[in-house]
Amino acid sequence: MSSVTFDRATRCFPSMDRPAVDSLGLEIGDGEFMVLLGPSGCGKSTCLRMLAGLEDVDSGSTLIGVRDVTHLPPRDRDIAMVFQDYALYPHLSAADNIGFALRIARMSRARARQRVEYASFVLDLEQFLGRPPRSPAGGERQRVATGRLLVRDPRVYLMDEPLSHLDARLRAQTRMQIVRLQHRLGITTVYVTHDQAEAMAVGDRLAELKDGALQQVGTPREVYAHPANTFVAGFVGSSAMNLFRLPLSSAGARFGALDVPLPRDTVAAAAAGGTDEIVLGVRPEQFEFLSPEDRDTPGLDLVVERVEDTGAVAYLHTTAWSGEGLARLVVRLPGRPTYGAGATLRVAIRAEGVHCFSALTGQRLPGDTAA
Ligand code: ATP
Repeated sequence: MSSVTFDRATRCFPSMDRPAVDSLGLEIGDGEFMVLLGPSGCGKSTCLRMLAGLEDVDSGSTLIGVRDVTHLPPRDRDIAMVFQDYALYPHLSAADNIGFALRIARMSRARARQRVEYASFVLDLEQFLGRPPRSPAGGERQRVATGRLLVRDPRVYLMDEPLSHLDARLRAQTRMQIVRLQHRLGITTVYVTHDQAEAMAVGDRLAELKDGALQQVGTPREVYAHPANTFVAGFVGSSAMNLFRLPLSSAGARFGALDVPLPRDTVAAAAAGGTDEIVLGVRPEQFEFLSPEDRDTPGLDLVVERVEDTGAVAYLHTTAWSGEGLARLVVRLPGRPTYGAGATLRVAIRAEGVHCFSALTGQRLPGDTAA
């Protein structure tokens, strides 16, 4: 059994006025691929280092399986870790680098070779095995470091931004190789990244951190569909969720001339703290184009400022009058964009695409209708 538990684990550095990791409570299942996600400085690496025994835990504890490892030296924790700066042996061939730990562990030559060959096959490293890893641009060194980790048989893999130095194409390729191997080996993995797209692609679940505090834990789908607060809503999603602070009306929220109907419970919860505002979140794909024939359908008048065409999809960067000023909206409509800067269009907001957050706390409100 190799679950991992952070039980109110806290790390304080004297130079900081808040904990780098603040009372983290997180349970990672046996064999699970958990991603720690968040912006730079939110405490991801410190969490990993606490679990590895490279950083003290000031209060709370860390467990691997049922064993409390909080105060164990790193070598007694049965973990394997890959860092951003891989620390390879420059004079050893790629094969010897990958198999180094197996030699130290006195694994039989035949078995070690089998493991090195398998990892090299999955990571596409076979042609490089005979010589020292070079060509950082090709991701060779990164993949050798990953291979060195994946041939081992620890209770837990720890990976700290292992793909950060790779270009986008190699990164996408290598992360899928890692996921494939991890699923096959079934070894519990904690993977750190600040890249939400990467987190969504590799994680069985994500744990989102901000300023050392856990914001939300869930599958990529859950976190995308039901972000716990405005921070998560704005962080997860390839084009960020649009967030608008709007005045409440008796039946919903007012976006300029548009009334956005909301459930009564949501309006009541939004107003509970004594505010008359609410934050609405709408993802770019949750707008619907309104043609001139739809003029009776309530909608928003948008002016296109810029078209961001990624090839597969196009995002319209637009503005709309919110009643108090110009609001910026990013809108994704199906099909090829036929608009340029300065064009105007009308859109409706899909009812199932409206996320509601407290204007006071930023927390998700009960009863919203986002599907
Ligand atoms: P990044 O992606 O930039 O590495 P991170 O989310 O991994 O960021 P950490 O490296 O865990 O964040 O750092 C969390 C906070 O703790 C940061 O404010 C950082 O400056 C601080 N910190 C980390 N290590 C130390 C240390 N040894 N001494 C003092 N402060 C530290």
